[in-house]
Amino acid sequence: VPSSNIRNFSIIAHIDHGKSTLADKLLQMTGTVESREMKAQFLDNMDLERERGITIKLQAARMRFMYNNEAYCLNLIDTPGHVDFSYEVSRSLAACEGALLVVDASQGVEAQTLANVYLALENNLEIIPVLNKIDLPGADPERVSREIEEVVGLDCSDAIYCSAKEGIGINEILSAIVQKIPPPQDTAERPLRALIFDSYYDAYRGVIVYFRVIDGTIRKGDRIMFMASKKDYYADEVGVLSPNQLQVNQLNAGEVGYLSASIRSVADARVGDTITHYSRKAEESLPGYKEATPMVFCGLFPVDADQFTELRDALEKLQLNDAALKFEPETSSAMGFGFRCGFLGLLHMEIVQERLEREYNLSLITTAPSVVYRVNCVNGDTVECSNPSLLPEPGSRRSIEEPYVKIEMLTPKDYIGALMELAQDRRGEFKELKFITEIRASIIYELPLAEMVGDFFDQLKSRSKGYASMEYSFIGYKESDLIKLDIQINGDPVEPLSTIVHKDKAYAVGRALTQKLKELIPRQMFKVPIQACIGSKVIASEAISAIRKDVLAKCYGGDITRKKKLLRKQAEGKKRMKAIGRVDVPQEAFMAVLKLE
Ligand code: GDP
Ligand code: MG
Repeated sequence: VPSSNIRNFSIIAHIDHGKSTLADKLLQMTGTVESREMKAQFLDNMDLERERGITIKLQAARMRFMYNNEAYCLNLIDTPGHVDFSYEVSRSLAACEGALLVVDASQGVEAQTLANVYLALENNLEIIPVLNKIDLPGADPERVSREIEEVVGLDCSDAIYCSAKEGIGINEILSAIVQKIPPPQDTAERPLRALIFDSYYDAYRGVIVYFRVIDGTIRKGDRIMFMASKKDYYADEVGVLSPNQLQVNQLNAGEVGYLSASIRSVADARVGDTITHYSRKAEESLPGYKEATPMVFCGLFPVDADQFTELRDALEKLQLNDAALKFEPETSSAMGFGFRCGFLGLLHMEIVQERLEREYNLSLITTAPSVVYRVNCVNGDTVECSNPSLLPEPGSRRSIEEPYVKIEMLTPKDYIGALMELAQDRRGEFKELKFITEIRASIIYELPLAEMVGDFFDQLKSRSKGYASMEYSFIGYKESDLIKLDIQINGDPVEPLSTIVHKDKAYAVGRALTQKLKELIPRQMFKVPIQACIGSKVIASEAISAIRKDVLAKCYGGDITRKKKLLRKQAEGKKRMKAIGRVDVPQEAFMAVLKLE
């Protein structure tokens, strides 16, 4: 296919607005996958993703489409749908000339969609508005079109009305892709530059790299080099995604494909890096490459100390496939040996934890997530601290800075008050409130990332009855009046429960946290005091009274199944307990600080 008959596009949509359903229909209608071989939602093929209905990893698919008796090659590059992965989204958009903007016609534009539309506009993409779910009785595509025009400033006179579920409007979408999205430029004569928009680790072939050729040509057997990691390899295999991998001899400027080259870790061929030829190097790499910076850290400890080596092996394996995951050993007298791990955000953190437990059968205790603080010391040094228990002592520090984010919340106007109160409670600085339509508003705040880590998103959802959406971006560090709050259980300091809080909130947090711990830690055979301290000063204390009777005594003599059930329940509870001194502390206690109030 000549480059004039290639179209590269992606789909921008808010979660649940129908991106996967539409992608499947496009693949079906173009005969790319037979319906009988279609798993539900071909593009989301990670179990975890399917279960949670989120798109984590990008995938791509090549389709053949006949238009005016000419064959076109349409490459769909999928994007993840969560703000933790906005860098990946930006790279896949950079690999395209156009995008479908899919909006649920019974809902409207959401914050995350807006953020991605702006990314697409920055990359000069042609955007085709698509109003999905017109089969729903509540669908109002005219209203939502107007909203897109007002909010995004995009002409919606040609917007396509579709139902991905019922297969309405799919042909119109395919035709619009050919008509409206510009073909890639034919720059096959230039030195090779290909943009990596995804990579994953395959145990047999090493890393599989997904890329878009921007300039030049890549052939099987070529000696290639990754310009950011400066590693070079021979391309063992080059191919297209149809959507299964299919080997070809060469890919030219404008085409999308994959390669394998016995690469041992995704860190050597990371998303955003530029592939060039070893002997005919491009002068400049493609713009936009960024190192992954973890924003959120937590401790991971095996419940059973014997699983430490297994945990390390599992983290190493996951890292081969996840260049953004960082970890280093951490030891604490309370928890024993474990790791301090860094993640892009909370979702990324949850995904890693879940995979460790599910795929590697590890039983873990996770400590509450922390951000990275910058501590300016008296001796002039600045140290980064991602572990509250390691915060330099008050006498040795001059000031502490913490990361701030700018958040934008989109909400129906009824919930403006509730959401402003939420942001205010979380030390938010009000920036802007504007109505984007008569009934929907955008609220902008700047607040500490630490205040967002935890239940902020859950609160946003519950205070708006599910109707608000949000988006955030890191804006920099600001000095704050912060102190460290420590917790002692039965007289033993429990470092993983240490937390860094604003001075004005310290007493309230100390009280709420000790109360919460009292509820969460099961009663023992003896009385257990729980104390919150700032330095050596106790600011709040509670005590768990001792158990008097055997729990089983509560069951009536004969009911053996009930007894068994109770025992099993206790055993399950046990699995996720960590013995701290003589006290068994359950997993939930380590997260308690996130759910105060
Ligand atoms: P994604 O999160 O954007 O990938 O959304 P999905 O494709 O997973 O769709 C979310 C939900 O909306 C699923 O339950 C789909 O069956 C449903 N859905 C998608 N498209 C349509 C449509 O055109 N009409 C209706 N009624 N439901 C749809
Ligand atoms: Mg999906």
